[in-house]
Amino acid sequence: MSRIISGVLLLFLFNAVALSAEEVIQLDSLDIQEYKGRSGIWTTIESQAKLNYYLKKFYITAGDVQEINGTVKYRTGKYFFIPYSEKYLLEIESQGIKRDTITSRKNDFIWPLSEVIRISSAFGQRGSRFHTGADMPATRGTPIIAVMDGRVLLTGFDRGNGWNVILEHRDSFYTRYAHCYKIFIKPGDYVKKGQVIALVGSTGHSTGNHLHFEIRYNDIPLNPLDFLPAKENIVRPHSMRNWK
Ligand SMILES: [Zn+2]
Repeated sequence: MSRIISGVLLLFLFNAVALSAEEVIQLDSLDIQEYKGRSGIWTTIESQAKLNYYLKKFYITAGDVQEINGTVKYRTGKYFFIPYSEKYLLEIESQGIKRDTITSRKNDFIWPLSEVIRISSAFGQRGSRFHTGADMPATRGTPIIAVMDGRVLLTGFDRGNGWNVILEHRDSFYTRYAHCYKIFIKPGDYVKKGQVIALVGSTGHSTGNHLHFEIRYNDIPLNPLDFLPAKENIVRPHSMRNWK
């Protein structure tokens, strides 16, 4: 009996140590991105000539592109993930192009945009409505990254959120990324913390390019700023503004 209890205790301690250990997270950038465990870049392919250009530039085959995207059917505005070969990766690394890294514990969220200097609308009561996330202004096309490892639960469009993504994480945590300009990932995809999933836009009910970011526990929206790593000098809206 006591052996079982000490076994359970050991397992618990092991998990606690594993979850609190810091790990190095690679952050996707405009130059190097990740999808399904491969490095490459999300881009449009409008023609055979454009595809041929990428095949030559990245030292890959049409089969590599087909394999990771399922299909290669050109359509204006449709994004494909073009994987880099090892040779091309080494080539750009020698030019000093590489991903930024940060350290984060397994169980911790990271920021969904690499540079956030201002929260334009905070979580909480906003006039007569409750604002269920935090708004982060950014220029159109800024990469939005997954804040924690997870699985894509939903991608879609609705009038309020515009193009939006919901990721499912461990322990019944969910994150939503709304008003996207473009969404790359598909429902069922597994995503890694730091991986680009979409681009900032202003779709749906939005007055300018920004990311509306939510963290939910089951279906309960929580204040994202209580969970994201502390940032110095971030400008938040004054709470008095919400007084009526
Ligand atoms: Zn919002």
